[in-house]
Amino acid sequence: MSDCLFCNISQGNIPSDIVYEDDQVVVFKDIYPKADVHLLMISRQHIGSLNELDKSHDELICHMMRLLSKLAKDQGLDNGFRTIINTGPGGGQEVYHLHMHILGGDSLPGFA
Ligand code: AMP
Ligand code: ZN
Repeated sequence: MSDCLFCNISQGNIPSDIVYEDDQVVVFKDIYPKADVHLLMISRQHIGSLNELDKSHDELICHMMRLLSKLAKDQGLDNGFRTIINTGPGGGQEVYHLHMHILGGDSLPGFA
């Protein structure tokens, strides 16, 4: 989708601070970090949100979930990390291209 911010980041049309990429996903630093470490993992394929997932995405989602631990460890988050997926207006989603937030570090606030 040419007007999608994260599609443009995935294709290299908009610069980002990429920490990992492969044929299925791109991982980069959030431009407005909410913690010491704040990464976003996006699918290269445009998927608007969790609400659009179907069985054809099973392998991709499994790949993304399994990558989280490696990404956190690569950032030095040996003590754990938080993963957030905002979905829809009620979930606070701002960018409608599926992404997982990976947060961690000393400044991570409590979650209430
Ligand atoms: P969400 O509210 O879950 O849709 O999260 C969107 C996230 O994208 C926010 O945390 C923003 O700070 C982040 N963001 C927006 N534009 C950019 C950008 N150009 N590069 C990196 N992160 C961005
Ligand atoms: Zn997109």
